[in-house]
Amino acid sequence: MNKAYIYRIYPNNEQSILINKTFGCVRFVYNQMLANRKAIYEQYKDDKQALKEQKYFTPADYKSNYEWLKEVDSLALANAQLNLKTAYNNFFRDKSIGFPKFKSKHKDRKSYTTNNQGGTIRLIGNKLVRLPKLKDIAIKLHRPLPEKTKIKSATISQTPTEKYYISILVEYDACIEQVTPTLERTLGLDYSSKSLYVDSQANSADYPKFYRKVEAKLKKEQRKLSRRKKCGKNRDKQRQKVAKLHEKVANQRKDFLHKLSRQITNAYDTIVIEDLNMRGMAQGLKLAKSTNDNGYGMLKTFLQYKLKEQGKQLVTIDKWYPSSKMCRFCGTVNGELKLGDRVWTCSCGAFLDRDINAAINIKNEGCRILGIA
Ligand SMILES: [Zn+2]
Repeated sequence: MNKAYIYRIYPNNEQSILINKTFGCVRFVYNQMLANRKAIYEQYKDDKQALKEQKYFTPADYKSNYEWLKEVDSLALANAQLNLKTAYNNFFRDKSIGFPKFKSKHKDRKSYTTNNQGGTIRLIGNKLVRLPKLKDIAIKLHRPLPEKTKIKSATISQTPTEKYYISILVEYDACIEQVTPTLERTLGLDYSSKSLYVDSQANSADYPKFYRKVEAKLKKEQRKLSRRKKCGKNRDKQRQKVAKLHEKVANQRKDFLHKLSRQITNAYDTIVIEDLNMRGMAQGLKLAKSTNDNGYGMLKTFLQYKLKEQGKQLVTIDKWYPSSKMCRFCGTVNGELKLGDRVWTCSCGAFLDRDINAAINIKNEGCRILGIA
């Protein structure tokens, strides 16, 4: 099993210059390779066989023309190539993701990934981490890396508030006993744009709308930012202020979702959810604000790995499964049910709360898939 551990790092001046240079080089080769792929596609798009036979440029091909690429960690550049390949594969698997875009200095996350090759990435005591090209960087090891793990790679990133982090990916032998699922310890979750979810026990998450709380303040600071002169010192300061507000909200949301997913994982053995396309929902239903705010996707990610660590499981059911429209007592599907109908009466006489009915249906479908009676 793989697991990532994130720590704050404190590079000195020289190190932060090299880190930023690496961010720049990674972005540069990514954009060059993307331009190269696009050009080849344009030239050979009508000849599938010829298109297949074309060779794309690699980071090494750029090094003779751009000498400064040699100054940075070559594995970071190799990973940029892999990332581009993944972006292409994702696009061809699901076109709604959109064609890979050029990376921008200001809009995109600043990060690069490097691999461990026989100890090139390792902890030195509990105050330093060694990285290729950078030597030893001060690290705040707020919790130890678990013993008997092997470091596979590290991703170095910088937040818009100019803090540096390292995410260390480790591999370990998992010897986890699988928990046998039971009806009692299975919980169904139905997505709700209002409260994150409603579960099959009729509870909802009571989820604070983190962004809504600072919305007015954020708007005010953003307006100030747009009035500042471009390239001015005050603009940079104001940009920091806005970035700090965003960071605060993002951290609050993450903390909340970590605690929530921990509680759910401890209380149940199996969680059943619908396979939702969050991006499609945000666009299609114009719920962008509440959908993005409530972090349902993040909850799913946290649940998935927390359950897995305990030998438990997350079951996703088909997005076409009529969880809301089906009466859980008689199985009749109510095709007339509209999005705004919060309660409805089935032809069998059952009076149903839309969300609770859906959550119980989701639980039942999950149990059917797992073969639990
Ligand atoms: Zn019914």
